[in-house]
Amino acid sequence: MIIIMLGAPGTGKGTVAGFLEQQLGFKQVSTGDIFRKNIQEGTELGKLANSYMVKGELVPDDVTIQIVVDRLEQPDVQKGIILDGFPRTVAQAEALNTILAKKGQKVDMVLNLTTPEEEIIERIVSRRVCENPECKTIYNTIMNPPKQEGICDKCGGKLIQRQDDNEETIKARIATYMEQTSPLVAYYQKQGVLRTEEVSQRIGRLGKDIADDIAGEIKNGNH
Ligand code: AMP
Repeated sequence: MIIIMLGAPGTGKGTVAGFLEQQLGFKQVSTGDIFRKNIQEGTELGKLANSYMVKGELVPDDVTIQIVVDRLEQPDVQKGIILDGFPRTVAQAEALNTILAKKGQKVDMVLNLTTPEEEIIERIVSRRVCENPECKTIYNTIMNPPKQEGICDKCGGKLIQRQDDNEETIKARIATYMEQTSPLVAYYQKQGVLRTEEVSQRIGRLGKDIADDIAGEIKNGNH
C-alpha cells in the first residue's frame, strides 16, 4: 500500500506518518530526513540539499526523484510505504506515478493535512526532534512536551530544533508550499485518492486522532 502525506509545513505530516508506521507496519520514508542524514554525514548530496533547505526552497526534482526511486527498491518498503514530504511538485508526482505503474502499483491514499495558518508558525517554532537517526520522534514544547526537558522519552536521545525551524525560513517554506506543492491537492483530487483532514489544537483534533482513524479503517479492510 502506498500512502502519501501532503500538507503545508507544520501540519503534522511527520507525526501522523510516525503513528501510521507504528500501527500498520508500513515504512515511513521522509525525503527531508534523508537529506538531513546526508547533511549530518557531510556527503555531497547533503551539501547540495542544505544549500536549498536553509533558504526554504525545494531540492531539485531530478535529485529528489532519484532518491525515492532507489528507496522504493529496498525490501523494507514492500509491505507498505508512507511517503512523508514527497512528492512536493507536480513533476515529482508524475514521476512517482510512472515508477509505480512500471511496478504494477499505484498511489492508494493521499492524506492532505490542513491547519489554520496562525497555528502553523507556533507549532513549528515549538517543534523539537530526537537527534537519534534511528528514532527521530517529534515533540512539541507546548502541546506534546517530553517528560524530561530536552531528552527523548523513547530512546533518551537529545532533542534538537531543526535548523530550518526558525520564523524566517518557515515563511519561505510556506510560500514554497503554496507555489509549488499546493497544486498537488487538485492533482490527487482528480485521481480520486485525496483525503483531507484538519489538524488543529483549536478543534481538538491532533495527528494521533487522525492516524488512529485511518489505521483502524485500513486494518478493517476499508481501503
Ligand atoms: P521536511 O522535513 O519534509 O519539512 O523537508 C525539509 C526540507 O527538505 C524542505 O524544505 C526542502 O528543502 C527539502 N525537501 C524535502 N522533501 C523534498 C522534496 N520532495 N522535494 C524537494 N525538496 C524537498
